[in-house]
Amino acid sequence: MSSSDLSAGLPGPKTNAFKHGQPFSDNYWIQLRKAQDLPVTKSLQHLREVLLKKQIMILVSETGSGKTTQVPKAFLNDLPPGQKIALTQNRRITADSIAYRLAELLDVSLPGVIGLCRRGLYLSDGTTLLQVVTDGALFVQAKTDPLLSAYYIIVIDEAHQHTISTDLLLGHLRWVVKQRGNLKVIIMSATIDSARFQSFFSGSVGEKVQGRQFDVAIKYLKKRPEGDKAVQEVIIKTILQAHRTERPGNILVFVPGVGMVNGIIYNIRKMLKGHAHQRPFFQPHEAGELELWPLYGSLPSEDQDRAIMSQAPPPRYGRPGRKVIIATNIAETSITFSRVSIVIDSGLVNAKIWNPETESWILQPQLASEAVASQRAGRAGRTRNGVCYRMCTQKDFVERTSLHSVPAIQNGDMVTECLDLLVLRHNPIDFEYMDPPAPETVGKALEILKAFGAIKTGKKTGLQVEPNGLKLSHLPCNMYNATLLLEGQHFGCQDEALSLVAMLESIDGDDVFLPTKTEEQGRKQNEGKIFFRQDRGDHIMYLNMYLSWRNESRLGTADAFLRERVLKGSVLRAADALRKQLLKVLMDKCGWKDTAVGLTNSKFYTRVLCALANANRLRIAMRDPSDERDQTWRTMRTDLPCSLYQGSCQPDLKEQWIVYNENYAGGQLRLVTPIPLDIILWASPRGPGERNLTDSDFVTNALVERMMVMTKLPESLLRTSMPSLTTPSA
Ligand code: ADP
Ligand code: MG
Repeated sequence: MSSSDLSAGLPGPKTNAFKHGQPFSDNYWIQLRKAQDLPVTKSLQHLREVLLKKQIMILVSETGSGKTTQVPKAFLNDLPPGQKIALTQNRRITADSIAYRLAELLDVSLPGVIGLCRRGLYLSDGTTLLQVVTDGALFVQAKTDPLLSAYYIIVIDEAHQHTISTDLLLGHLRWVVKQRGNLKVIIMSATIDSARFQSFFSGSVGEKVQGRQFDVAIKYLKKRPEGDKAVQEVIIKTILQAHRTERPGNILVFVPGVGMVNGIIYNIRKMLKGHAHQRPFFQPHEAGELELWPLYGSLPSEDQDRAIMSQAPPPRYGRPGRKVIIATNIAETSITFSRVSIVIDSGLVNAKIWNPETESWILQPQLASEAVASQRAGRAGRTRNGVCYRMCTQKDFVERTSLHSVPAIQNGDMVTECLDLLVLRHNPIDFEYMDPPAPETVGKALEILKAFGAIKTGKKTGLQVEPNGLKLSHLPCNMYNATLLLEGQHFGCQDEALSLVAMLESIDGDDVFLPTKTEEQGRKQNEGKIFFRQDRGDHIMYLNMYLSWRNESRLGTADAFLRERVLKGSVLRAADALRKQLLKVLMDKCGWKDTAVGLTNSKFYTRVLCALANANRLRIAMRDPSDERDQTWRTMRTDLPCSLYQGSCQPDLKEQWIVYNENYAGGQLRLVTPIPLDIILWASPRGPGERNLTDSDFVTNALVERMMVMTKLPESLLRTSMPSLTTPSA
């Protein structure tokens, strides 16, 4: 077919204004034709007229109706010269895929009209009109440009997910729209939050676009399953039964965590094979082939793509083959699956919740909200009528499920966020949050920030950001890691601190260790851990891993290295990209010079340990001498008994003192490195006297006090031992 046939009857210009008037590609017309059928497309003109009159629009419609890909680009011709549109995404992977999708739809390459900005990546040029940006990265931009003056329209996408950055942006935007009468804001959401957004933004207008939704029948259980194991069993039964008896179409299963994803797949595979003494669940002629796919965030992206793109197996004995995707909540929005007509919803989400009193995290499955449940059910009715099995009784669903999910801001520790708010001249205590965090959490966050010398309380001025705090807030990483960078500079190991922080940030939420498929792989991976660890702890392990990978990359042998050690390349590449970005900020804002000091100095480990001890000054634990089995540790600040997280460090660790990165799952210390007492004392903020973090004195004092209790050494000895230590680099 010629291009003129392809474009027949389609609206819009015939040549590409963003490419010097060149003709459009065939693919452009094919995509444009498809877009004509999206529910949102018919409303675009109306939405433009509404936004002409109103400053803030709340747009609600089902996932898949075309909000993300159609709405922002409809405003490209309405921009005043020199101004841009920002389109937020909650996750880095969706930001990437949306940016490339938009470039495809406009028939341009990236960067150009379409830009992409997220941590570790900045693709944008002078011609960029539509900037796809993660909510976190946009919030970072606000810190240097509080009025977000580069943008004429800000589109907040997937607002109903209430990520912390989105919620903070919404609160901040409430202030910005009052300062900038010409700014337009579009808030896009897939569920029933519209009324809340409207009451949060006075003067906003709500718009709803009816999606193409087919009927979804909801089915409940007769009896409530008690506990994770029972839930997993009933899900397995439901999958197999649905496969044998239900309408054609693929099955999408939502479970709270990776453990259950793997548990379900393992058990079904076992059952389908059947054991010698046990009949298989069904005979081959009773049902078609069943293909199982896991889907979760830390899975390698190639595997995620295959889970999403793969076709269902062909029919067998006249019965449909099906694919079953077993997913955590990453599958709720943004990702489009084909031909799903059966959804099985565990009704649970895993939440990581901060306890400010004990300064520790717990991981807890929570009941999903009605909003999440209807979102999940909706995935069954995209292309035809579907069915959703909820793994609870109808009575429980009505009585125990809350309307909305707990917003992430109420589960987090708020430390970085409070500093960010203060830098933006908002007071975290009375900031207008859409959903405020607990006052205890904010109080503790401010206490922690003071301990880092990031903020102080003036008698007249109230909460104030210290110069140190300003530096910390420029760094796109958490407070502890940002401090590690500055301490690295102080102790003369900045290059190592930089690599280590880049790794620590990249493995947060994404495991660098690939799931092993064979015993051989497991053995290789373990050998790698031991090799990188050099008997020195988890932090050094990650540092060495990165350095080895970088070395291999320069030699062009990175792929073989990753295979040999069974590591996930994307995590190391992300660390490398972040490292570059951090270095730029450190040079621009923190007075660093571009240094590539190698590991020539034999004191290198000592220096890194000093920096670590200081950055983790609030996360030090000591072996509990009263535990005869020698497996208990006590945290210095909160005096909680803890154990080492499985897989953390060497289990036969002999040292008395460790720093840890996280107190997790109610008393398991994750990511630990042993540190000699003299380094802890020497490196602690009140150390040899030349350090000047006066507001942190109480930390040292508290440390010395606890050490007195635990070591039974007299205070004078503990205190005098500090100045007697010479600098470790000497
Ligand atoms: P919404 O934001 O309302 O959920 P989107 O604008 O993301 O909807 O998607 C609209 C439609 O475009 C979807 O139904 C999907 O079929 C299609 N689509 C989205 N992204 C892609 C892509 N990367 N490749 C092919 N089709 C896509
Ligand atoms: Mg969308």
